[in-house]
Amino acid sequence: MTKEADFDAVVIGAGLTGLYQTYRLREMGYRVLGVEGGDNIGGVWHYNRYPGARIDSESEVYGYFWNEQLMQEWNWSERFAAQPEVLSYIHRAAEIMDIRKDYIFNARVNKAVYDDDANLYKLEFQQPDRAPVTARFVFSALGPLSAPQMPNIPSINTFKGDSYHTANWPRDPNGVGPAKLDFSNKRVAVIGLGSTGVQMIQEMGKQAKQLTVFLRSPNWCTPLGNGPMEPERMDYIKSHYNEFTAKCDASLAGFPHEFILKNLFDVPQEERDAKLEELYKGPGFSLWLAAYQDVLSDPAANKYVSDFVAEKIRERVKDPRIAELLIPKDHGFGMKRVPLETNYYEVYNQENVSVVDLNTTPITRITPDGIQTTDALHEFDVIIYATGFDAVKGSWNRIDIRGTGGVALEDEWNKGVKTYMGMQCPGFPNFFMLVGPQSGATFCNIPRCSALAVDWLSEMMAHAKNTDIQRIEPEVAAAEGYTLYCSKLMGKLLLGQTNSWFTGINKNIEGRDKREVLLFVGGNPRFREYCDDVRDNSYKGFIMS
Ligand code: NAP
Repeated sequence: MTKEADFDAVVIGAGLTGLYQTYRLREMGYRVLGVEGGDNIGGVWHYNRYPGARIDSESEVYGYFWNEQLMQEWNWSERFAAQPEVLSYIHRAAEIMDIRKDYIFNARVNKAVYDDDANLYKLEFQQPDRAPVTARFVFSALGPLSAPQMPNIPSINTFKGDSYHTANWPRDPNGVGPAKLDFSNKRVAVIGLGSTGVQMIQEMGKQAKQLTVFLRSPNWCTPLGNGPMEPERMDYIKSHYNEFTAKCDASLAGFPHEFILKNLFDVPQEERDAKLEELYKGPGFSLWLAAYQDVLSDPAANKYVSDFVAEKIRERVKDPRIAELLIPKDHGFGMKRVPLETNYYEVYNQENVSVVDLNTTPITRITPDGIQTTDALHEFDVIIYATGFDAVKGSWNRIDIRGTGGVALEDEWNKGVKTYMGMQCPGFPNFFMLVGPQSGATFCNIPRCSALAVDWLSEMMAHAKNTDIQRIEPEVAAAEGYTLYCSKLMGKLLLGQTNSWFTGINKNIEGRDKREVLLFVGGNPRFREYCDDVRDNSYKGFIMS
């Protein structure tokens, strides 16, 4: 039996993906409510306002390709836009969609429970003054990198100076960027060397009186290739958006880069070395996503490129001891997400910058004065935690999500994540995920690939509306088949055999030391093909009633 819900659909999250999903459902005539835990739109770009934050995608391929008006009116000022500009872009997109009116803010969902009899979800909020709402369909656009993770260091709250996690950086109350904090007289520590830490370190190197980097796991970083966006280039982009769209759609991860369809060792050494040089200097993920096709799968080809990048680090970092510390030894190039940098390695040549090697002297605790390692107390005014996220599953696990029979999603995932197209899990009817585990958008240029998921689900919802379908759930066998497919694809790439957030490893969370299949790494075209095939075959694998 079904009963009337407060809303046909609730969309959780007001990032780029959630805003678009809400817009699509509203335009189709669904009674939709958007709910956002924070006080404004923007998702990760609202929260991650740390100094130096910027995109690693070429500006013109980040954002809403579906919105002709926005594409034609928006002028990016840099080739790789900084956080304030990206957030302004999202604010403008929201204006065009007139979407704020469909949202409530400061409404953080902490419980979503399916009522089998009524076929609806009851959503409860963390804020006690928010009354629960019910909805037939739930679209969770929570973001794979939205649950900030602090390090598990003892007595972390005893520090008497200022400390910040990069994803909760103080905001400029009158603008879209970070609060204007003065570090010129401060001794600053940074912990974490992922994409965030790299951006933070290169910025803090300019701002802090003294910067100390606490180094545990260095990454292979390559130059970003940023620069101003010349008006002529912007004009060219506007008149060629179709080509940019097509290029991203044809690529592995939604970026304007394509692999060279040759194996590295099939190319004469001189030619391949010249190519690697060119790619290293190229924009964005050139070396990661536009090199020889076997670099991410063949250990020998991968080692060749890793050695090439290691030499670059040695050339750029003057102190050979520091250079060696900055060269990853536990994984090859591209097996983890590659941070992009601008003069990052040169920061280590500055007088005001030093390194503490946590592999020889680990942190034992935080004290009121700073960071205690096994050999010394390092005193600071500011500690910055660039320690990442409870990635991919974390944003979902932080909500108590219950499906049929009161089963908890987290408990199911603890037995092993199983999804159908990364969009639904068996036993959780009418609960959809966008950019979650095994979604084609998670290992991708997110707004580009999440639009695919939004468009596909919206088409399915139009079908549901036309045929009066009230309940959608994947078959167990379909989810098992899809998960196996993800696993096979992952097994082909070296990144599937590496510990990182890509494979669900998080040293700060107990029990997260076994690799999981959290990504669909088959690429954008293959994911689209899979989705189209399901749709064209009467939504095979879904039970609809
Ligand atoms: P991350 O890649 O997970 O990096 C976290 C870093 O913190 C790692 O170096 C980790 O070392 C270190 N760490 C964590 N706990 C520690 C501890 N207790 N002691 C010492 N070190 C510790 O997180 P992220 O840098 O925030 O990046 C996450 C993702 O966000 C990126 O991969 C990217 O997809 C996205 N991102 C994108 C951009 C962009 O587009 N420009 C910018 C920033 C982030 P271990 O590896 O040893 O744990």
